[in-house]
Amino acid sequence: MSLLRLENITKTYHLGEIDVPVLKGISFTVERGELVALMGASGSGKSTLMNLLGCLDRPTSGKYWLDGQEISSLSANDRALVRMAKLGFVFQSFNLLPRTTAVNNVLMPLDYSTKAPSIRTAVERAHEILERVGLGDRLEHVPSQMSGGQQQRVAIARSLINEPALLLADEPTGNLDSQTSVEILEMFQQLNAAGLTVMLVTHDPKVAAYADRVIRVVDGLIVEDDHGGRSIDVTRRDPKPKRERIDAVGATPAAHAAMVGAGESSISDGGGTMVAVRERTAAIAAKPAVAATIAAPAHSVRLGVAALFPAPLRTAATALRRNKMRSALTALGVIIGVGAVIAMVEISQGSRTSLMQTMATMGANTIMVRSGAAASGGISFGSGTLLTLTPGDSEEIEREASAVVATAPVVQIQGQVVYGNRNWIPMNVMGTTAPYLTIRDWEQMDEGEMFTDRDVRNANKVCVIGQTLVKELFDGQSPIGEDLRVKNVSLRVIGVLGRKGSNMMGMDQDDVLLAPWTTVKYRISDNSAAATEAAASSSTTSEVNSLNELYPGSTALYAEQSASQLANTPQPVRFTNVDQISVKARSAAEIPVAMDEITSILRQRHRIRFGQTDDFNLRDMSEMVKMMGSMSEMMGGLLMIVALISLVVGGVGIMNIMLVSVTERTREIGLRMAVGARSYHILRQFLIEAIVLCVFGGGIGILLGRAASYAVWLGLRWPVAASIPAIVGAFVVSATIGVAFGFYPAWKASRLDPIEALRYE
Ligand code: ADP
Ligand code: MG
Repeated sequence: MSLLRLENITKTYHLGEIDVPVLKGISFTVERGELVALMGASGSGKSTLMNLLGCLDRPTSGKYWLDGQEISSLSANDRALVRMAKLGFVFQSFNLLPRTTAVNNVLMPLDYSTKAPSIRTAVERAHEILERVGLGDRLEHVPSQMSGGQQQRVAIARSLINEPALLLADEPTGNLDSQTSVEILEMFQQLNAAGLTVMLVTHDPKVAAYADRVIRVVDGLIVEDDHGGRSIDVTRRDPKPKRERIDAVGATPAAHAAMVGAGESSISDGGGTMVAVRERTAAIAAKPAVAATIAAPAHSVRLGVAALFPAPLRTAATALRRNKMRSALTALGVIIGVGAVIAMVEISQGSRTSLMQTMATMGANTIMVRSGAAASGGISFGSGTLLTLTPGDSEEIEREASAVVATAPVVQIQGQVVYGNRNWIPMNVMGTTAPYLTIRDWEQMDEGEMFTDRDVRNANKVCVIGQTLVKELFDGQSPIGEDLRVKNVSLRVIGVLGRKGSNMMGMDQDDVLLAPWTTVKYRISDNSAAATEAAASSSTTSEVNSLNELYPGSTALYAEQSASQLANTPQPVRFTNVDQISVKARSAAEIPVAMDEITSILRQRHRIRFGQTDDFNLRDMSEMVKMMGSMSEMMGGLLMIVALISLVVGGVGIMNIMLVSVTERTREIGLRMAVGARSYHILRQFLIEAIVLCVFGGGIGILLGRAASYAVWLGLRWPVAASIPAIVGAFVVSATIGVAFGFYPAWKASRLDPIEALRYE
């Protein structure tokens, strides 16, 4: 079976309205082991024919068999597979990857090979082949460090790495001087001698003279097929041009001498040397694999860490490293975007944490029960003026509500505190019970201890004070056992509260005096029965003097005591109402349950009928937590949107540069397709490049963002926390941006036509 069989192949280009017939019916066969030159003047259609033979293009009509397989009907992908498995290409312009070492250039076709060996074997094989083409000492050189001849040898080595059945060389010596041309042509002869079928395209008879057989094309038709009158014999190879053919085409003696070079003597004295050459080439040819004709290199192969990564990643990394600066600038958008996102998330999370901490100092899971608003004559006195909330309510709630762990009644007054010659008006003078500290998470006393239930029962004149009072009244000295006066009532200090700091509103929580509620209510406060009543009645009767007459129905809240009543009860009637009840729920989650329970208990105790409104109201911190949380969330959200926009801008930047890169690397894409890359390989390569850029940018962005939030911590002492979800999210987002914005350029690259890409200037 012939390696190559063409049957009446035609190719017509359509330029707008005009048809340009380039090949007009070409038929020939090539056997395995032949060295064929395809010769013709420039424009005669050689390259067109070569592209057909190389499965880069399809004929307009006619049939083409390669290795028994009909090619002209194959799809583009199948043709790529054929190129990968059976063909090697050598171009006039070398088409090496720039800024890529010789070894990596040679290894490139293996990226697309379906039978690629392990990376170690592959590198060994590349070294071997490079040594074979005489570049053993140029393995790590990049094309710009090599001469044209050396570059063409690298290209030949590259075409051999996949052990092709057919080597196609289009004007391989077109860009080389005559001496180098001879070396290259001799190399083809050696390869051919070792069993490789070589097809050489040239316009130059001197080059064609190196072949066994010359097919001459004129205007798209074969005008001569010259076997040189010899039968094809693989073992009978002559690695020098045939003198008679050179003479026949009339080469100038000077050019001839230059071309034949050092080999001249072996030809001119004929006989002996020729036999020696034949024996050597025959020995080479006898070896089975093309790549095995040279012994394995003595030095061992060193593989970098790069070998650990899969080939597509390596390819992408190499491509990106070729343009370090540009890659870095391309990634900049993503770096800034991701950095901003990370910094935003960490800082806003930090501020939320600090908010939560402040909130916790106010007492976690607390609910405040305040009495409702009293109204008289259509005038409301505001929240807390109804006198219906009692310590009994507090006890009942603690007893009955399952979601409640502690309750404490609270009465609050304003008043001056005096010690010796100093005085101070604390923010809060509160009467309560011992559990109040539990509710406020304030059990830790700085000194002394809290008053007890007995103190409450007996209305003992004791108190505990906060740090601010210690500072203001006692100059930081221990106040335990000292007596201070509140509204002329002497109270003994028995404890000092631990420091709590300011709350969310910036109010000093340590500016507080706590005493038993009974003491505050009955000894200090002027909320005695008479005063309460006076206040209640005065607000309606005295203060709104003129209106009083208009509403005759408005009576005093409480009936005045008769003289005998006053005589029988020397103590004033004790109103046991309190201003509020502090409640601690079992957990934040149970706050709603606790609130429901409190509501039903209080409604029952206060005998509020269905449909009537509550005479108390409940407030919990969660409202405030929620409010604060939603505020910081909103800020965070806004900043996040800005950061995301910058990410999108970064993505557009990447798309832009990738498009430029695709245009710039059109020839590289064409070359990769020629050596067997299918369009999905090209798509994958550019997509991976975009993703690598993005993920790399994302990684740097994460570090930058962390650095920024650390700087905030250093400067502002805001607690910032590394957020794992944010980091993972940033990676996912940047990879997604890579895919989203890299796809179009990659798709564009994958749709390129290999021939046009190779011809692209
Ligand atoms: P050569 O023998 O010099 O390699 P080519 O095969 O490159 O010649 O070209 C043969 C003819 O086909 C030329 O006249 C050229 O103008 C024409 N040709 C080649 N490629 C195209 C194309 N893509 N579109 C139109 N005409 C083309
Ligand atoms: Mg050409």
